[in-house]
Amino acid sequence: MSESKVRKINHIALAVNSLSEAENLYVNVLGFEVEHREVIEDQGVKTSMLLSREGETSIELLEPLDGSSPISEFLLKRGEGIHHICFEVENIENYLEHMKLLDIELIDESPRIGAYGATVAFIHPKSMNGVLVELAEIPKEKT
Ligand code: ZN
Repeated sequence: MSESKVRKINHIALAVNSLSEAENLYVNVLGFEVEHREVIEDQGVKTSMLLSREGETSIELLEPLDGSSPISEFLLKRGEGIHHICFEVENIENYLEHMKLLDIELIDESPRIGAYGATVAFIHPKSMNGVLVELAEIPKEKT
């Protein structure tokens, strides 16, 4: 079932207290470029996508919008750090069906629209060796 093979890592996401401070660090110290900024109200986050010089490595920074954000909860419990890994897939719906059959615990039973117009679904860390995994299907014109 080749369509249920991950294409590549799309991004690694970090939970941070301050988006602007983290951006400065990644831009000024490591030479990343800010590709895109977006506020996702329904997830209670401000995001910034950083791109490496060769364009192959993306880091997503997540800052909570307020105290009710899941990112705020994460920061309280664990402090700043890696929040999730996003794998790029094709046919995300088939993927989720496949995972349901395998009794993998999904946070999103069906895909939704995430940042940057991607179709995304999160898989519970309980089923993924303690790592929150995001699956993303990128709109064709962006791949
Ligand atoms: Zn993400």
